[in-house]
Amino acid sequence: MKTTGRKMNRRDFLKVSGLVTVGAITGFRRVEASIPTAELALTNGKIITVDSRDSIVEAAAIRSGKIIVVGNREAISKYIGNETKVIDLRGKTVTPGLIDSHAHLPPFGQRENGWFVKLQGLNSKEEIMEALAQKARKTPKGDWISAWGVEDLSLSYLDKDDLDRVTKEHPMLAVHTTGQWGFANSLALRRAGIGRDTMAPPGSKVEMNPFKKEPTGLLLHYPALDLIRKHMPVPDDEQAKDAILFAANLYAAEGVTAVHDNFFMLGTPYFHRGYFELIQSGKMPIRIKIWPYFPNFEIASKVFKALFESGELPPASRIKEIILLRKESPGLFASIWGGFKIAVDGVPLWHGRQQGFPMHKTEELLAMMKLFHRADHQVSIHASGDQAVDLILDAIEAALREYPRKDHRHRIEHAISPRLSSLERIRKLGVVVSTHPQFLFAWGDKWGGLKNRTGVIPLKSYIKRGIPLAIGADPPAFPIYQPQVALWEAGARITQKGYHFEPAESISIHEALRIQTMGSAYSGFQEKEIGSIEKEKLADMVVWNQDFYTIPKDQIKDVKALLTIVGGKIVYEKQ
Ligand SMILES: [Zn+2]
Repeated sequence: MKTTGRKMNRRDFLKVSGLVTVGAITGFRRVEASIPTAELALTNGKIITVDSRDSIVEAAAIRSGKIIVVGNREAISKYIGNETKVIDLRGKTVTPGLIDSHAHLPPFGQRENGWFVKLQGLNSKEEIMEALAQKARKTPKGDWISAWGVEDLSLSYLDKDDLDRVTKEHPMLAVHTTGQWGFANSLALRRAGIGRDTMAPPGSKVEMNPFKKEPTGLLLHYPALDLIRKHMPVPDDEQAKDAILFAANLYAAEGVTAVHDNFFMLGTPYFHRGYFELIQSGKMPIRIKIWPYFPNFEIASKVFKALFESGELPPASRIKEIILLRKESPGLFASIWGGFKIAVDGVPLWHGRQQGFPMHKTEELLAMMKLFHRADHQVSIHASGDQAVDLILDAIEAALREYPRKDHRHRIEHAISPRLSSLERIRKLGVVVSTHPQFLFAWGDKWGGLKNRTGVIPLKSYIKRGIPLAIGADPPAFPIYQPQVALWEAGARITQKGYHFEPAESISIHEALRIQTMGSAYSGFQEKEIGSIEKEKLADMVVWNQDFYTIPKDQIKDVKALLTIVGGKIVYEKQ
């Protein structure tokens, strides 16, 4: 992949099907001395700017990573000089780079590069067992097997006896696609010292068989999964960087130019250092913002103090690295720090249903919310079920009552089907909803209980109320990361088996594109820099093989990126 942009030779540009590099000044006036020369210019296209008037223009010119002019051919001609690379779009469509508001690059990369056994797409227990058995046959005895992506929603879908039938000689953990629960075999439980007397950490559950009084292998929520994970091998620094870069390049190839990573632990493996090093070395093809996850108030307050108040380095601490990085590179730290991530539920917590349970006591949730809120940080909060949404709205409301603060943009992640009565509170409290219409496609058929319910991912209702929205694909939790699927599904609202979720909540492609560009940018306080193609903004844009606005709606999911540009550099070109 070429990331040199300006140094790219002419033949490289010509590889892009349907696009032509005009090279220097062909057909343009020579640039006048006082006008800055563009390094890159796109002409003769349909450039959907997503500016406030939804303008569509023909051309744009870029210099030093920024857009210096947009308009018609004449408007940009005076910026074109001998050194300018001019791409003739031949009518192709360009949009701002898409911004994914919710993803987890390290495990997404590990899912795609073979670190995990990928179970997504396997639709029967037999297929899952066979995939795990295949891995066991290739893995030295005693080594861990780590799998991701069980898609069935039943918490009793697998147990340790199932996994013991695959292998008793490898410790094994198979995590649900959402990452919220997992199943361990007997050897994994033994290695982790989990037995009949194990007390689950707060906010989690180690399920016990009521008759045999021993663990079933089911571990609910991150704290219980961590009992196992702390015994598992973790990627070293190079492997961590490889995973991040692998995922980032997959995104770049789909026209995603910025990602919000709102879940990873500060600590081993050093994913935050991986991010920093990739950005500093210029290898990271896309923009990144991070919202690291904090599992409880004790850790949250210690990290907060060390990071933002005392700056003291606790010896041998898991967070020492990021404190050092903040000291060494304050500018870079500020540019990628999004805020704090917390979670209200894991297994979704619904009003009137038995299954889910909160990750925190209400007082702890409120204490964490207040800690970050009063210090002017943004909080990204996982809340899937409607009761979880209401719990966090209570906490945000209480935090705001004590510390009124404008433009906090605290975000709820997921909000699968909030009570319609909660939407007005979301609006009043100034909360952003980071949502995923594409979930309806891949998971809608499994959400039996949500069919016929009103307000499942209620995009139109949010828009009508003026609630700010962002869209993310949530890989590796969600199997599909391509943003085109979200653009399509925001209108289609159809499941794999053809069930239509409440057509009244459909939105137009114009609205969906705006959410996945300016909306996602707003959710990360980036709307002044990215999200639209306007003068002075960073030059993040994508050339597509089709026009989202004019093709039949069911083809939107199949549109392909031809060229992805981040900060004026070409980070992906279709071969
Ligand atoms: Zn997620």
